[in-house]
Amino acid sequence: MASATPPPEALFPDAPEPAVYDADVRPDDVDPDALKVIRRLRRSGYQAYLVGGGVRDLLLNAKPKDFDIATSARPNEVRSLFRNCRIIGRRFRLAHILFGGGKIIETATFRRDPSADDDDDDARRREDVDLLIRHDNVFGEPWEDAMRRDFTINGLFYDSEANTVIDYVGGMPDIRGRVVRTIGQPDVRFREDPVRILRAIKFSARLDLGIDPPVYDAMVAQRDELARAARPRLLEEILRLLRGGAAHRSFWLMWETGALGVLLPQVAMHLDDGSPDSRRLWGRLDAIDTLRRAGSLPTDAVLFSALLLGPIEEAVDGVPDATRAYEALMQDVVETLAVPRRLKERVRTLVQAQRRMRAGKMGALPRREYFDEASTLLSLESHARGERIPDWLGEETDDDTAPRPRTRRRRRRRRAPE
Ligand code: ATP
Ligand code: MG
Repeated sequence: MASATPPPEALFPDAPEPAVYDADVRPDDVDPDALKVIRRLRRSGYQAYLVGGGVRDLLLNAKPKDFDIATSARPNEVRSLFRNCRIIGRRFRLAHILFGGGKIIETATFRRDPSADDDDDDARRREDVDLLIRHDNVFGEPWEDAMRRDFTINGLFYDSEANTVIDYVGGMPDIRGRVVRTIGQPDVRFREDPVRILRAIKFSARLDLGIDPPVYDAMVAQRDELARAARPRLLEEILRLLRGGAAHRSFWLMWETGALGVLLPQVAMHLDDGSPDSRRLWGRLDAIDTLRRAGSLPTDAVLFSALLLGPIEEAVDGVPDATRAYEALMQDVVETLAVPRRLKERVRTLVQAQRRMRAGKMGALPRREYFDEASTLLSLESHARGERIPDWLGEETDDDTAPRPRTRRRRRRRRAPE
């Protein structure tokens, strides 16, 4: 079906000509509600495409987490078309279209990066320019919306009516070559938003993609910029790396690029010493990935404890005041990543309980509300040590060292996989 609006290049002579590819996407793989939203927007004369991670995952044969839509309709126009619509966001307004079962189809108006026109290219390249994006986005054209995105694989539009991919950013060759590449100059894009360094690691690890060498070099060169990013975003991205099903590969890349040394120097230094104790981190991360594949992702507190266990044990081992040693170690972590107090306290509780259980001192632990989480942490660590998991920790399995969450006593809080 022809689009109701003229193609962007007719309106904007500057607009790059997109490459258009026939998409090898089965309509059944796309959420039917997302297709409905697109159809209604199109019928009302707007442009509308599937965008972002959903398109990337479809093209890579991975299971998309969610389906986002970009459209020429303004948020209020979207709202007037859908009764089940809620406008959210103060900085940039988005439409959330709600469906049964809590499903949300995020529908955003095409927007551009406003700094793209006030900074001339040379200025953008100069070392001393502060590129961190601090202002809001403004509405734009489809090609501008594609260009503001982080990686080429994330900048593709899927036209569900024509079953084609519209590519302004060279994303399709990178999907085929399975490579992470920034849209535009990598140094500039990482300085604008250093969290993109962690996102590159996430996509490379989770989807098993290569990283374009100049992009990798820029990640290393710009890693210190991570210290300037919004701290809650950093913590969230670290948790995403732990939850994504490729925690081992993710943290290997974190270590290798030096990003770990910037964000969690305690963990990086622990790994650097290369001792058998430090190598157990990889075993715990493997175990997390195994649990995730089995659909029983541990809680954030267990994940974060598993990441920090090595340095924590090193700090508290044999000291008279373990709490003080723990606080001293965690002070920097809390500061760098804005770790909420509750999470910090929970990590201490779980690590302590895990140590007591390992020493065979069960006491009243099985009656504590944190027992399931502590048991899961113990099972991750036992797996890393290649030790048999204690019998009382769950059902017998053929593989005694397979990690498993403790779930007998009480249903654990589960988080939907991302
Ligand atoms: P996931 O599967 O982990 O959700 P995603 O690619 O969908 O991956 P989101 O954080 O949901 O990631 O973001 C949706 C889209 O928004 C991305 O695909 C990308 O196009 C764009 N985007 C997200 N974060 C950034 C960023 N920091 N800089 C530029 N574009 C971004
Ligand atoms: Mg997403």
